[in-house]
Amino acid sequence: MKRIYLDHNATTPMNPEVLKAMLPFFTQNFGNASSIHNFGREAREAISKAREQVAALIEAEPANIVFTSGGTESDNFAIKGIAYANEKKGKHIITSQIEHPAVLSTCKFLEKQGFEVTYLKVDNCGKVDLDQLRDSIRKDTILISIMHGNNEIGTIQDIEEIGKIAAEKGVFFHTDAVQTCGKIPVSVKRANATLLSLSGHKIYGPKGVGALFIKKATRIFPLQHGGHHESNRRAGTENVPGIVGLGKACEIAQKSMEGNCRRIVDLRNRLQNELVERIEDTVVNGHPTDRLPNTLNICFRYVEGESMIMMLDMKGIAVSSGSACTSGSLDPSHVLLAIGLSHEIAHGSLRFSLGVDNTREDIDYVAEVMPEIVHRLRKMSALA
Ligand SMILES: *Cc1c(COP(=O)(O)O)cnc(C)c1O
Repeated sequence: MKRIYLDHNATTPMNPEVLKAMLPFFTQNFGNASSIHNFGREAREAISKAREQVAALIEAEPANIVFTSGGTESDNFAIKGIAYANEKKGKHIITSQIEHPAVLSTCKFLEKQGFEVTYLKVDNCGKVDLDQLRDSIRKDTILISIMHGNNEIGTIQDIEEIGKIAAEKGVFFHTDAVQTCGKIPVSVKRANATLLSLSGHKIYGPKGVGALFIKKATRIFPLQHGGHHESNRRAGTENVPGIVGLGKACEIAQKSMEGNCRRIVDLRNRLQNELVERIEDTVVNGHPTDRLPNTLNICFRYVEGESMIMMLDMKGIAVSSGSACTSGSLDPSHVLLAIGLSHEIAHGSLRFSLGVDNTREDIDYVAEVMPEIVHRLRKMSALA
């Protein structure tokens, strides 16, 4: 059976070029980057090249990139690191209700440590209200953490405006750009970001590696203590193959972003139009234009997302409902509730997230099988 993968916001297949770049660093070039000898030098040089590749993708200076174990660690490091380094200045943090769990759970944790967190509401397209953001900044506000692109509905926030507001008020600004890096242009300069998170496995790189951009001269509390790695910001022997892979993935993303984006957005729009046209009672979620080019989140009334996923899976099609991180729980997605959907409608949501290998045939096949699946489930449903 042909398998069609439409869950790229959960993870992506590794680009073969990335694997090729990584392989020597598992075997012959196995050195520890802290060693003085030739083996160590090779590893050091490879890390330094990767730092340049990552920095180039987000318009940063290589010296301001710290390698981490992924998006989750980058978010934790950014938020806790800034919170602990600035708690004498203030204990108030602003974020939004639709952040990734890596941000939300970190904020919840800090609340237990005596920090205060404002969770900004979003409108029904998933946008943060900038006036509300301005109004919620207080004397003791130290950090604003607002994601760039939402992993579930794809809504893109105006991070340049948010960065401007943060800078005017002298507040640090962190953005989780895990979903936008490699898909649309991301610039720490234009966004005036103090900190920016990205992850390897969302951009056709390896799992378990990511990066945090930290603006020059920003005081940040390290989360891991040990050796002097990563300029004393993150202790632990570097994951050299992973870092090399992340660098390569960033380089490829930068080169191919424009072409991929144009092709993928066309396919996404085709899928959206076909589904809305062929199936009654659908609601497309997220912002109509300010949305990740690859993401389609759509609710099918009177059916359960999980049931649709299982029936699609039997046809070889992989999609998700809500987010992979919260699946397994019966609570509907916090993002869908935050944009004002009822529990009932939110339960019928599917997320199609396209990637570079998807073809028009893939999309047409999905558009062909979906109506039949939805109709069959609606017939069985007591709600319809
Ligand atoms: C996937 C994701 C993360 C977590 O990244 P990992 O590398 O899987 O830890 C954080 N934020 C967003 C928006 C994501 O999509």
